[in-house]
Amino acid sequence: MLTAESLETRIANIAQSSYLEGKVFTEVIYGNTRFPLWVFEWGKSELPSIIIQAGVHGDEPGGIEAALRLLEILAEGAVPLLHHRLVVIPCINPSGFADQTRSNRAGQDINRQFHADLTQESAAIRHLLDLQSASAIVELHTDSHAPGYYLFELRQEGQASVGQAILEILAKRGYPIEAEPFFGGYRGEGGLFAPSLEELAEFQRRVPGRTLAEWGMAQGVPRAFPLEAPYLETFERSAAMHITALFALFAALEDQTSL
Ligand SMILES: [Zn+2]
Repeated sequence: MLTAESLETRIANIAQSSYLEGKVFTEVIYGNTRFPLWVFEWGKSELPSIIIQAGVHGDEPGGIEAALRLLEILAEGAVPLLHHRLVVIPCINPSGFADQTRSNRAGQDINRQFHADLTQESAAIRHLLDLQSASAIVELHTDSHAPGYYLFELRQEGQASVGQAILEILAKRGYPIEAEPFFGGYRGEGGLFAPSLEELAEFQRRVPGRTLAEWGMAQGVPRAFPLEAPYLETFERSAAMHITALFALFAALEDQTSL
């Protein structure tokens, strides 16, 4: 199981690799405790980026584990992408992770606070990220109620859908897919929520605040993918499902770039 100590050790090991660049971009401070926020960058700086954020909810370690495994694969020299670079924030809510809470140590749910500098964590991300060069934003979550994997696919006008292709690969590997996911008054189909821009705007009129994915879309990022792994299964399987989904997403985005 992932602990605050093993998280620190694994990040320190990944940061030793010459295949990617890791840095602490800020520290969040609660009383006398300081938590580093790490970002890792992989790939040529002139390429469009895929931004991956994990651990916004501190009690969803499956996403953090998946981000760490991805970084460990990159740290060994793997080259999963030719036309994109990666920007990975493996744990955006380290105080919540240490406390095993959804919120940060100030009791704030960071997830819908990305439209303004409302939390230390979301403010730091807002100032860190260059969204102009981003081609996609990915959020890694787990859902403790869902028996299967599901995902949101937010797209600007004219962007082809890749969500179904990701879910097909997960299903082929034998992972469970949430047939009819239900969220925020919407029912998805075959594991996929793919709202039109009008439906997204209508949802946002009812639900205040913006996730990183929603804020990025409002800034013109072409696509965003909040991914939800089931946490009823083992922690290991949740992370493995996210890794499978990430590599399927990479392949789909690369295919579209090379056309
Ligand atoms: Zn979550």
